Amino acid sequence: MVNHSAVTAAVRAAAEKVERGERITGADAATLWHHAEDADLARLAGRVRARFHEARRATYMIMRIINYTNVCVAQCDYCAFYVLPNQEGGYVLTREDVFAKIDELLDVGGDLVAFNGGFNPKLPLHYYCDLFGAVRARYGDRVEFYALTIAEFMYLADHAGISFAAAAARLRDAGVYWITGGGSEILTEDFRSRHSKFKYTVAQYFEAQRAVVEAGLQTTATMVIGFDETFDERLEHLERTRDFQDQCLENGHGGLFSFLCWTYKPYGTAFGGREITPREYLRHMALSRIFLDNVRHLRTSVLTLNEHAFGALDFGANDFDLPIEDEVTQKAGARIDLDLEGLLSVPRGMGYEVEYRRAERPPLAASV
Ligand code: SF4
Repeated sequence: MVNHSAVTAAVRAAAEKVERGERITGADAATLWHHAEDADLARLAGRVRARFHEARRATYMIMRIINYTNVCVAQCDYCAFYVLPNQEGGYVLTREDVFAKIDELLDVGGDLVAFNGGFNPKLPLHYYCDLFGAVRARYGDRVEFYALTIAEFMYLADHAGISFAAAAARLRDAGVYWITGGGSEILTEDFRSRHSKFKYTVAQYFEAQRAVVEAGLQTTATMVIGFDETFDERLEHLERTRDFQDQCLENGHGGLFSFLCWTYKPYGTAFGGREITPREYLRHMALSRIFLDNVRHLRTSVLTLNEHAFGALDFGANDFDLPIEDEVTQKAGARIDLDLEGLLSVPRGMGYEVEYRRAERPPLAASV
């Protein structure tokens, strides 16, 4: 039988820690997740958000994910995007294709590109260095780009037979500033062995991300929810992320610029399943903001939640993308809305001042 007064006391104790500016434990997070009201989670997330950002202000970017190849050997069961090498339908974009997509992005007022593709064994490291160098040379400061996800980065380093540190240095010398934390999904070894056993372990993920940070590159944290993960797995992901950020900050690195969480789209995937509700997403975002007290930017996912994503601004988020393309999630059921002004009217209608945030380029530590 549930002891209601004990539960109420535990919720109150966890909430008081947040109000006092103290860090909560995993047990506190579980208590809040299972027992706090939506309004209480929103209020507490707002308290943590206010340590970093003005209350009724949000920032956004207009961006495009360029899926430069759909050929992949990882075979994640939640992916509707990939084809295996030599299967029909595989592609690699030409440099002209990439430039045309960036030009289109500039035409609609965007300035951030995120490259994202599969683990394509036919693409050597110099393909990436040449591509990124060409984008940097052609567009200069007009466009910033997230060069790869950590997952792709690990594959190309392995494929080239070099260390993560050496691969990060090669990419940095080619003009890369960002390698995002994409490809993390749920960072537990058990989740990865269930769904993506060829996509590296959690230990390798953080080893690679550490090498990226130590090379002076910028990185981010990501998470995808709504597969079959348990709450404990979600919490483990958040704990590992917070620990990694603590280590970065202790070592004098900028660490994780932001935490972006999006939702699994199940259509056309081998794993299948159903989408989670917007309410579950909002609660998770609030919990993430409360728990990740060392990450400045919490980004909500218009890509997978459309107008529902803006609700997260009231649950701790402060930033979002307006994407104009992402084949990976579109293949699995994401709907991209190109009425950017119509989208922006939603947070404005909620009382937020929204401001365009230009893609940031951090100073590179030349000697690292
Ligand atoms: S999610 Fe990425 S790594 Fe996994 S199969 Fe799809 S393209 Fe490959």
